[in-house]
Amino acid sequence: MQNILLTGGTGYIAAHTAITLIEQGHNPILLDNFVNSSPKIVPRIAEICGKTPSLIELDILDTQSLTQVMRTHNIHAVIHFAALKAVGESVARPLAYYHNNVVGLLSVLNAMQAAKVAHIVLSSSATVYSEDAKPPFVEDAPLAANSPYGQTKVMMERIINDIAHTDPNLRFAMLRYFNPVGAHPSGLIGEHPNGIPNNLMPYIQQVAIGQRDYLSVWGNDYGTTDGTGERDYIHVMDLADGHVLALAHLLKGEPSFTVNLGSGEPVSVLQLVRTFEMVTGQTIPYKIAPRRAGDVAVLLANPQRAKDLLGFSTKRTTADMCADAWRWQKNNPNGFSS
Ligand code: NAD
Ligand code: UDP
Repeated sequence: MQNILLTGGTGYIAAHTAITLIEQGHNPILLDNFVNSSPKIVPRIAEICGKTPSLIELDILDTQSLTQVMRTHNIHAVIHFAALKAVGESVARPLAYYHNNVVGLLSVLNAMQAAKVAHIVLSSSATVYSEDAKPPFVEDAPLAANSPYGQTKVMMERIINDIAHTDPNLRFAMLRYFNPVGAHPSGLIGEHPNGIPNNLMPYIQQVAIGQRDYLSVWGNDYGTTDGTGERDYIHVMDLADGHVLALAHLLKGEPSFTVNLGSGEPVSVLQLVRTFEMVTGQTIPYKIAPRRAGDVAVLLANPQRAKDLLGFSTKRTTADMCADAWRWQKNNPNGFSS
């Protein structure tokens, strides 16, 4: 059984990944400062998989303590989820984002070097692709980001690549997530954003539960099937599977790699709304509103490399994403405080 350190371990994607790691015989150790999550998720993870993962409260910026954690827990690999992730907030608070995400990564890498931990899996994002790249994106497409958040991800990838060039011991998996949605099918854990949700699925969930009156559909004049924005939604449990496959590939001694994790299938805003309505029986009132600044028409993965390299492909449907998201929302209208 290998000890895997999950930075940002009580966050949305990390918590779902922890379950799959436990089910696959790994020993995930969750580390978080709870800036955007709650330790209350840990008993829920235990309820789902019958094992309570270790939890460490720590800021990744504290390199000395982080090194100590890696040494005392005999860490074999790090999955680095910890980051601030709100695009809009990053425009308002760029210093906080560069500090937490970029300096935070440097701290993790320094700790890994000091503790002789050689494997890192990074949470990257579809947001690293340049507006000049043509969807579906292949991994070698040009990179550029138009927000400080996106820039931190481009920089984080670059930093890891540069260090791996000079440090033959360091091996990495860069995972570019497309649009993670949904929840564990138990309904015990899921995503609970603070304040008004920016992202589509959590907003739909909150309209369905009656916390918001209607959904604003940001633009219906894009050059897409029905004029609304198209995205590549991926069920968070498929994403969790992708992490475990990526980790296994690295731990087998294979070379470092960068892959998209997406389905390759576009879903428009209105298609997602209709699927949610059909699966849940809830009506989602919506109004067409002007385009959201900074939005692109289509974000879509070419998923071929992940399939060839890792044998990864998505298994859960858009209907599964809606059903699981709704089960979580209905049972926990106020997230982990309900
Ligand atoms: P999340 O906010 O739920 O999880 C991030 C976790 O990191 C939180 O628990 C937060 O408390 C923790 N954290 C932040 N800064 C920290 C610090 N300095 N020290 C310790 N812990 C810290 O977000 P998520 O959706 O689970 O995202 C996980 C990762 O995936 C992030 O790196 C994010 O940028 C990336 N990502 C997310 C999406 C998405 O749509 N959710 C898409 C692409 C990439
Ligand atoms: N969207 C919308 N209303 C909302 C939130 C999002 O119409 O309240 C649209 C958005 O314009 C985009 C799609 O839904 O076309 C996905 O948006 P999200 O913010 O979830 O993901 P991202 O744009 O970051 O990929």
